Amino acid sequence: MIGQVDEIFGAIHKKLTAKDKELIKKAYNFSHKAHEGQLRKSGEPYFNHVFATAKNLAELGMSPIVISAGFLHDVLEDTPVKEEEMEKEFDHEITNLVKGVTKLGTVRYKGMERNVENLRKFFVSMAEDLRVLVIKLADRLHNIETLEFVRGDKQKRIALETLEVYAQLANRLSMGKLKGRLEDASFKYAYPKEYEETKKFLEEKKDAKEKYLIEVRDVLLEKLHEEKIKGFKIDYRQKHLYSLWKKMQKYNMDIGKIYDIIALRVMVNTVSDCYHVLGIIHGEWTPVPNRFKDYIATPKANGYQSLHTTIFTGTGGIVEIQIRTHEMHEQAENGIASHFIYKEKISNINDKSLEWVNQLHEIGKEVVSEKEKPEKVLEKIKINFFKNRVFVFTPKGDIIDLPEEASVIDFAYAIHTDLGCHAQGAKVNGKNVSLGTKLKTHDIVEIQVNKNAKPSSKWLDYAKTTLAKREINAYLKNNSLLSKFLSFGKN
Ligand code: MN
Repeated sequence: MIGQVDEIFGAIHKKLTAKDKELIKKAYNFSHKAHEGQLRKSGEPYFNHVFATAKNLAELGMSPIVISAGFLHDVLEDTPVKEEEMEKEFDHEITNLVKGVTKLGTVRYKGMERNVENLRKFFVSMAEDLRVLVIKLADRLHNIETLEFVRGDKQKRIALETLEVYAQLANRLSMGKLKGRLEDASFKYAYPKEYEETKKFLEEKKDAKEKYLIEVRDVLLEKLHEEKIKGFKIDYRQKHLYSLWKKMQKYNMDIGKIYDIIALRVMVNTVSDCYHVLGIIHGEWTPVPNRFKDYIATPKANGYQSLHTTIFTGTGGIVEIQIRTHEMHEQAENGIASHFIYKEKISNINDKSLEWVNQLHEIGKEVVSEKEKPEKVLEKIKINFFKNRVFVFTPKGDIIDLPEEASVIDFAYAIHTDLGCHAQGAKVNGKNVSLGTKLKTHDIVEIQVNKNAKPSSKWLDYAKTTLAKREINAYLKNNSLLSKFLSFGKN
C-alpha cells in the first residue's frame, strides 16, 4: 500500500505553512514518479521505502527541507534522474543533501574493509552537514525494520553493523528514540536466542512492576496537584529490549537488580519544578540509597538531562522515577533534531555537548590522509569513539569526555596543548598523582604545570587519545637531537 502525503503532514508536530506543504508534496510526487515500476525485495513498490524514510524524518522532528530530501534520497543513485534535473526542480540545498546521502553510499557489507570505508565517509560527511547523517539513519531504520526480506546470512551482519555503528551514532546525536528503535529491530537478528530470553524475562516481570508503578503514579498525581505544580505530565516508559539485555549482562542476568525496566516519568515546566517534585517524592517515599542521580546539574556527555531516583513503594515494590522539563524531554527523545528547530544548518558547532562531532571530523581527516590498514583505522575509531567513555571534571566543574583508560596526560591535552606540554603532575580528587594515572568517571582533575616541564617519549605510553599522541609526537619530532642539529646554524 502506498502512503499518502497527508500521513507525513500528520506526523509533523509543528505548524506547516502552505509553502512547506507545497515543497513536501512536490518531493513526494517527484520521487514517486522517479521510482515508478521499481520493486523492493519484499515485492512492494520501492517508493514505500522512501516514503517510510521521509515519515521517520517527520517523526524525528526534522524540517520540511530534510523531509523532502528524505523522499529524494535514493533518486540520484537508483533512478535515471540526473543531478541537474533535481537542482532545477528543487534548490541547491536539497540537492546537496541528497548528494551527501548518495556519497555515503549504500552499505554493501564486504566485511571489515568495506565497513571501515563507510566509517571514513561517515566522519567526513558528518561534520559537513549533520542532516545528511540523520537522513542516513532514518533510511537505515526502515531497512532494518524490513530485514526479514533480506537473505538469512546477510541479516546478522547488517544487524550487527546497525548495533555497532548506526545506533552508536544515534546515541551520540542524543536521538534516544531513534537509537532505541534501531537497537530493538537489530537485536532480534544479531542475537536471536538472547532476544527471545530477554523478551520472556520482560513479559514475566512486567505486570508485577506495572502494578507498583500505577500505585505510585496515582498518589503522585494527587500530591502534585496539591502542591500546585503547573503544566506537569506523568507517563511511563518501558526499557528497550536491547538496553535491558545489556544491563542484565552487567548484573549477571539478575533481573531482580534492575529497577528501571519500567520507569515513571514526570515532565514539568522549569528546572526548579524538577527539584520541587523531587522533594515531594522523597518526602512521600523512602529513596533507595545511592540510586539518586542528578543529570541536570551534571548532564551526560550526549547532553542528556534528568533527575533519576528510585524509591521503595512501601508495599514491597521498588520504582524508578525520572524528572525533567518538557524541553529536556524533547532533547532526550530527538536530540540533534531539536537543535534544527531553531537553526536549519549546524555548520559551526559551538554547542559543548556536540564538541565530539568536531573531534570526529578531525579523526576522519587523519584517517583518510594516513591510508592506514583498515584494522588499525577501526581500532583508532573504536578507541576514540565507540569504546566506553570516562567523564571527568576540571576544578571549575567543566566536564571533559575521554576514552576509557585515558590518563592524566590525555586530560591535560584535552584542555589545552600548552597545559599538556608543561604538565608536571596532577591532583586527582585532591591527591597527588603521576601523569600516567588512569582516570575514572567523576574524578576531579587539576593539572600542575611547570614552565620547564616538557614531553618525553615515556608519555606516549600513558597517552590514549589521538590528540595527546599527536601533540607529543609533534613535540618530540621538533625537539629531537637530530632536528636541533639540522636547524643549528640556520638564521
Ligand atoms: Mn534508501
